[in-house]
Amino acid sequence: MAESFPEIREAVRKLCAQFPGEYWRALDRERTYPTAFVQSLTEAGFLSVLIPEDYGGSGLGLSAATAVLEEIHRSGCNGGACHAQMYTMGTVLKHGSQAQKEAYLPKVATGELRLQAFGVTEPGAGTDTTRISTFARRDGDKYVVRGQKIWISRAEHSDLMVLLVRTTPRDEVARSSDGMSVLLVDLRQAVGNGLTIRPVRTMLNHATTELFFDDLEVPAENLVGEEGKGFRHILDGMNAERILIASECIGDGKFFIDRASAYAREREVFGRKIGENQGVQFPIARSHVQVSAAELMVQKAAAMFEAGEPCGTEANMAKMLASEASWFAADTCLQVHGGFGFAEEYDIERKFRETRLYQVAPISTNLILSHVGTHVLGMPKSF
Ligand SMILES: Cc1cc2nc3c(=O)[nH]c(=O)nc-3n(C[C@H](O)[C@H](O)[C@H](O)COP(=O)(O)OP(=O)(O)OC[C@H]3O[C@@H](n4cnc5c(N)ncnc54)[C@H](O)[C@@H]3O)c2cc1C
Repeated sequence: MAESFPEIREAVRKLCAQFPGEYWRALDRERTYPTAFVQSLTEAGFLSVLIPEDYGGSGLGLSAATAVLEEIHRSGCNGGACHAQMYTMGTVLKHGSQAQKEAYLPKVATGELRLQAFGVTEPGAGTDTTRISTFARRDGDKYVVRGQKIWISRAEHSDLMVLLVRTTPRDEVARSSDGMSVLLVDLRQAVGNGLTIRPVRTMLNHATTELFFDDLEVPAENLVGEEGKGFRHILDGMNAERILIASECIGDGKFFIDRASAYAREREVFGRKIGENQGVQFPIARSHVQVSAAELMVQKAAAMFEAGEPCGTEANMAKMLASEASWFAADTCLQVHGGFGFAEEYDIERKFRETRLYQVAPISTNLILSHVGTHVLGMPKSF
């Protein structure tokens, strides 16, 4: 099957060639943000592909965005620093007021405003989002926010954040997913005025942070959509996020397969190429089979999203299959390289650490299996 969006892919590959392994290794060592890479992607227009033309973007569908992210990852780069600039605006686009769309989207499209922080997870709630306790109390023409978030990526490199808060306590609503709301927080004004951001050092360079809200004031006009319906408002964005991250896993998988098969063709031990040994060859072939199958599910989920069909199950399945396929490919690639797989200069150990994330975030595999087991197959719920 011919590759989709060949021109976009070619242009992304060319851009990524300017950011080789040593660029990423240096950042990884210091856990610093890939500013130059993000700037290049922004200038080339790749981060605004999902923004409608009326607001200055290219108005393409999710499949085009998956092609961009897949190529970034296949090239050995990482889109984690900026992928959310593509899709976080979706909540504003779909549920925001006309005034909000006009105020923010054109500037997000040019990159003048970075809207790439998405604040949902809390230490006390974990995956059970209905248990979030960060609370926004309405006080005249503003909300006053108190609480804490964890694992909020890119908050230090974002101007705006889509924040999920409770506006009615959980025990006062009929359904636990009611009573939550989405606020658009201007981080430039918030930091030092009720919001503290603390970086969390992790096993990969992902610019993730903890947030502490201590009576942060947010103008009431920054409420996105309807008060109390915030959980529903962010669901669509979560499907887009899962499909896009699945495409990053497909790119990672292809990166590992490219590297592993090239090495297996070249490396000689016991007087023959290691790839002649089926014990080496077959796991690489299996990786290719798994990544190719996962890619089909990513394409299906993206097509359903673009058609406006409910695609929560397919987005979840795509993310699960792709993250497991990329992880198997990573493990295989490391093994094929023997000791050299552990050497920084090969970039395999870095990509190995990076791709592991996607079985946990943005949603862990068990929760996907639980969704399929109960919502699709009708088995009893465990929670
Ligand atoms: C690097 C990084 C970046 C992130 N970026 C963001 C971000 O930008 N914004 C944001 O809001 N969040 C972000 N996250 C959070 C991420 O979405 C969560 O870590 C993820 O959803 C898992 O939630 P948790 O860590 O609270 O795990 P928990 O909910 O504490 O779960 C722990 C483990 O138990 C399992 N488990 C829990 N309950 C059940 C059950 N009933 N049945 C079976 N298994 C269960 C889970 O599958 C998981 O493996 C990020 C996380 C990381 C590590």
